[in-house]
Amino acid sequence: LTTAAQAVVDEIESEGVDFLRLQFTDILGTVKNVAVPASQAEKAFTEGIYFDGSSIEGFVRIQESDMRLVPDPATFAILPWRDGKSARLMCDVIDTSTGEPFTGDPRYVLKQALARADDMGYQVNAAPEPEFFLFEEGEDGTATTTTNDAGGYFDVAPKDLASDVRRDIIYGLENMDFEIEASHHEVAEGQHEINFKYDDALATADNVATFRMVVRAIAAEHGYHATFMPKPIARINGSGMHTHVSLFTEDGENAFHDDDDEFNLSSTAHSFLAGVLEHAPAITAICNPTVNSYKRLVPGYEAPVYVAWSDRNRSALIRKPAARVPAASRVELRSPDPSCNPYLALAVIIHAGLDGVERDLEAPDPVRENIYEFDEAKREEYGIDTLPANLGQALDALQDDEVVRDALGEHVVEKFVAAKTQEYDEFRVDVSQWELDRYLETF
Ligand code: GLU
Ligand code: MG
Ligand code: MG
Repeated sequence: LTTAAQAVVDEIESEGVDFLRLQFTDILGTVKNVAVPASQAEKAFTEGIYFDGSSIEGFVRIQESDMRLVPDPATFAILPWRDGKSARLMCDVIDTSTGEPFTGDPRYVLKQALARADDMGYQVNAAPEPEFFLFEEGEDGTATTTTNDAGGYFDVAPKDLASDVRRDIIYGLENMDFEIEASHHEVAEGQHEINFKYDDALATADNVATFRMVVRAIAAEHGYHATFMPKPIARINGSGMHTHVSLFTEDGENAFHDDDDEFNLSSTAHSFLAGVLEHAPAITAICNPTVNSYKRLVPGYEAPVYVAWSDRNRSALIRKPAARVPAASRVELRSPDPSCNPYLALAVIIHAGLDGVERDLEAPDPVRENIYEFDEAKREEYGIDTLPANLGQALDALQDDEVVRDALGEHVVEKFVAAKTQEYDEFRVDVSQWELDRYLETF
């Protein structure tokens, strides 16, 4: 056993953990889980745990279905329920036929992006801002779209009835060693946000995967349904997962900071930002992977629509948040929503940014006005493009973008595009209530 693995085995014993939940995600970002009794811990670390990958979305065909999970000891965390008897370990997926990492494992895809950054001398830090709604449960326990309160931005109790749910969620996460920076009631009724402190991008992706599971479980204990669906209610704000990114050098300096720059952003940061803007349409397919994601990316609800950056306003795709200290200089990508696979999302963002750095791209001027109020002529004058309007357009953009395709690898692109094209086609042939209301009696 490695020292790290041995430390986990010891902790399992001293904490009296009974079950290990060995976790990974499919290409859609759904957490998959194999539970093993704690007595299997050593074996899991040394030999891995075998499983059949053929029924996992985006994994493999029946003929080649044997996979092996190898837990990463750095991810050990006791889950904040079941009396602390159960713990998570995020795993890498090994293809048993080759003994190599499985190229369809999203965690591997992100590791490849981090390896590229490392080759260029950078370590990647990331912090997400996931938003979600709390809805009441119906009598039969199913989710409704009745919000649990009528609170608004930064409201406090009694309007913010969820503050005790949020508090329990935060206690739970803190017990798992998440560093929570802040939480607040978001703009929409029933909408909440919890921010984590930045960490290296892999830990952040692991944490987002676990976060969604913990939030849902703790909300359910309070009788609420938590949803990360991007736009559960039309005509009010949807839920985003703004993603903050910066590159640090090997000696721990923030490579995104420059005292002398008007925006305190280094030329590396400007080029990274330019790379993300250039690949924005293709990235959208991964960061906004559901039909519903595109109901959020419309003007007027603080979600981005236009491919531009800003140091001031929130209608742009990328924002440069104010930074109190040099270490905090970073860029905030505002398009991702919490229905995305966090591993794949960070991987494509990082590759797009590094492409900009490698090619020394220059960022356009920031746009300081509210772009929602621009008409087409003005957008054209400023050279501002629009994000894909629907999942179909985003998938086309993904297929046309070699950098983003390479970031994901052939296996993931093929499986992702196939699954998402089917999803989009199902939506296209469906007839919605809106259409019936609008046309049934008119024609
Ligand atoms: N809920 C908004 C969105 O869809 C973001 C609000 C905010 O600026 O935090 O991205
Ligand atoms: Mg927010
Ligand atoms: Mg934000």
